[in-house]
Amino acid sequence: MRRLFGTNGIRGVVNQDLTPEFALKIGASIGTFFNSGDLIVGRDGRSSGPMLMDAVISGLTSAGVGVIDIGLAPTPAIQYGVSRIGARGAVVITASHNPPEFNGIKVVGEDGIELPRRDEEVIEQMYFKETYRRASWNELGSIQKDESLLDIFIEGILEKANGDIIKKANLKVVVDPGNGVGALVTPYLLRKLGCNVSTINAQLDGEFPGRRPEPTPETLTDLAKTVKALDADLGVAHDGDADRVIFVDEEGVIHWGDVSFALIVKKILQEKLGKIIVTPVASSKLVEDVTKEQGGELVLTEVGSVIVARKLQELNGICGGEENGGIFYAPHQFVRDGAMAAALMVELIAKERRTLSQLVAELPKYYSYKSKIECPNDLKEKVMERIRNKTERYEPITIDGIKIVLEKGWVLIRPSGTEPLVRCFAEASDAQHAKELGKWGVNLVEEAVINSSP
Ligand code: MG
Repeated sequence: MRRLFGTNGIRGVVNQDLTPEFALKIGASIGTFFNSGDLIVGRDGRSSGPMLMDAVISGLTSAGVGVIDIGLAPTPAIQYGVSRIGARGAVVITASHNPPEFNGIKVVGEDGIELPRRDEEVIEQMYFKETYRRASWNELGSIQKDESLLDIFIEGILEKANGDIIKKANLKVVVDPGNGVGALVTPYLLRKLGCNVSTINAQLDGEFPGRRPEPTPETLTDLAKTVKALDADLGVAHDGDADRVIFVDEEGVIHWGDVSFALIVKKILQEKLGKIIVTPVASSKLVEDVTKEQGGELVLTEVGSVIVARKLQELNGICGGEENGGIFYAPHQFVRDGAMAAALMVELIAKERRTLSQLVAELPKYYSYKSKIECPNDLKEKVMERIRNKTERYEPITIDGIKIVLEKGWVLIRPSGTEPLVRCFAEASDAQHAKELGKWGVNLVEEAVINSSP
């Protein structure tokens, strides 16, 4: 059977993959799956959002499920709202960091986390076999509008942050939501916490004129310059649906997700809020170093935000994080949340009374090397098996791909889930070693591809 849901819901190009007809039928299938009760429905700021959301709502209500329409909101606000409002789940119309021509449909369960694969399969079956329910005219789902959720969400974060300490520090922060829905939350939240907030790209625009919705070193140059020009303490950037956050220090240096995650882990473990930290196998050794140093326990998972969230929930962990800027703070919710992470970061800087660049300088420094090697999809399994056999003596970690940990660093070889590629990451405490390890990994893959080809 064909698959519709990928690792982060259904994604596609609007009116090619994602037509209103498709959204209507998938809405009916989702509604049939939940069968009764109310679902929250909300969306990010994409131009196609209203069209797709109306079609999804039409499908949901046709199957007899009630809808609480909260309109525009960051994905984590919608996820947070599920338990707060007492809904059965949520449907989020978002394509996160993808370009403007994309959109997507995410289905969230009662616990605020995306549905497990087996439930997605049930929905897919109903879609393909057209076995979704059509309720009779007097059993159609109702539609209520609710505009209170963003305030509830902001209040929820304010409860978890130390407002007194933050207020005293009088921090100057520049927020760059990238024309996305983070603009509806993060500037207001940080002002309420007593920060002096300026914004760039904070007008919602489905064409993302300010920058692409994915925060990368290339797309955040305006933010870095603004932080410097305004002599600010911190820059905060989100992706299109604000579940991720990337920070810029007072010198205008952009720090990648595992650096900010390591700082937040250090803070949380020092405060003895919990012990278990969850991160994918691809994260920097930095996270492991900090966790060990502070007496925490690190659990590695496969790459994927839903996997990290589920693991955190299952182990009742305290915090999770990904190198792309996803930070999961369990006392707030198990899923990644860019606004919550921004609050944790301002609290950290305020509490430590040092600049972000100083705090980063205290962490061990690692260098990384990244490369990708072409590999036809049908050869991937063979290629990985060959590499596994060849590297057996290093006792690799095989949670996701093959990770070989050596004294001077590590290499991770992972086939891409979507493209005909195998990716190779390496990390070491000096740049030369990182490059050497990376090249060694690339050689292993190239050799295996040649020897696996028919
Ligand atoms: Mg996102």
